[in-house]
Amino acid sequence: MKIEAIDLFYVALPDITRTADGTQDSLVVRVRTDNGLEGWGECDASPLVSMTAYVMPMSHSNIINIREALIGETIDSPEDVVRLRARAGEFGLDIQQLDHAVAGADIAMWDVLGKHVGEPVWRLIGHKASYKKLPYASVLFGDNPAETRAIATSIAERKFRAAKFGWGPMGRGSLGDDIALVQAARDGLGQDAKLMVDAGIIWGDDVDAAYERAVAFADLGVVWLEEPLRTEEVGAYKALSDRVRADGVQIGIAGGEGADFYRSADDMMTNAGLDFVQIDVGRIGGITEAKRVADRAHELGIQYVNHTFKSHLSVAASIHVFAGIEEFDLIEYPAGDSPLVLGLTAPTGIFRDSEGFVQASDKPGLGVEVNLGAIHEYQRHVKIEIDGEVLFESAQP
Ligand SMILES: [Mg+2]
Repeated sequence: MKIEAIDLFYVALPDITRTADGTQDSLVVRVRTDNGLEGWGECDASPLVSMTAYVMPMSHSNIINIREALIGETIDSPEDVVRLRARAGEFGLDIQQLDHAVAGADIAMWDVLGKHVGEPVWRLIGHKASYKKLPYASVLFGDNPAETRAIATSIAERKFRAAKFGWGPMGRGSLGDDIALVQAARDGLGQDAKLMVDAGIIWGDDVDAAYERAVAFADLGVVWLEEPLRTEEVGAYKALSDRVRADGVQIGIAGGEGADFYRSADDMMTNAGLDFVQIDVGRIGGITEAKRVADRAHELGIQYVNHTFKSHLSVAASIHVFAGIEEFDLIEYPAGDSPLVLGLTAPTGIFRDSEGFVQASDKPGLGVEVNLGAIHEYQRHVKIEIDGEVLFESAQP
């Protein structure tokens, strides 16, 4: 089959706030083929900037848009998807948000190929089985300990056995303030639940500040301390991780969501001393690149975890990436109440089974359906025009 069209849908909530909540808008990508099939993907980056990477005029041989690279190309096998992902990378070599943007098309190509050949994506990318994963409810800290405890209690009531709290006031007050927030999360969740903390890069390159928290949070049974430092502070990560291990502090160091191309993730896995590498399939260039990271993590003995703070379309894409590696047993599961995100897949997406686990679908493609009604409801109309020539105009889904 041939790629006939690539459709772009910029969807957003009516009011966007400055919270660290990626579920407020999205760029959804649809790939249509000449045999009437369609695949869907989602990007995690500024929707309009990514959209531009699909439609902008050529600047020179290394700045050619993604549509130009993909439309009219043949896609019949996994090798074709890998080849086309590379082709988009070559056409857009000097487009700085290329990997974020092409992620949507890459995910959509895997989805449509799966539908074409009647196989789930996890099998197409080389996995032999789809193992169950424990979803952790991924939420932001409340503005204070009382709010945080209330959020944690509601997560426990929703029968999640694991949760991660992040950003918000973490790291903005004293060490005591930070401990009080994590204690509140622990109190609300109960002693048996897995608890993770996402510091949202708040300590920059300050290893001492991060180490103090690691020690304190370990006492509260925190599984990992995520992004205590900025992504590029690889040396500081290594110093932190070495100190945590040397002192026998029982907590993992996690990071990697800022890795927006394979080599960046590889750098962190090789040099930052990570215990968990967290990769966003919608940032790193799609399923093709994320699978490379998962395989490398497996070789290095680092646990791969998805980073996902978008809709269940992204959760679905993420779980296929590491479905077949049994030891990679945790999955980030956005648990906020953004109506955009909850409504984007129909009926909802990746369901938790009676024991609370989730699993990559055996259905062809990603195994989730996109709810066109939600796209219709939340779509922003975009028109990109140069000298009177319309390069792009939003259409109804
Ligand atoms: Mg994070």
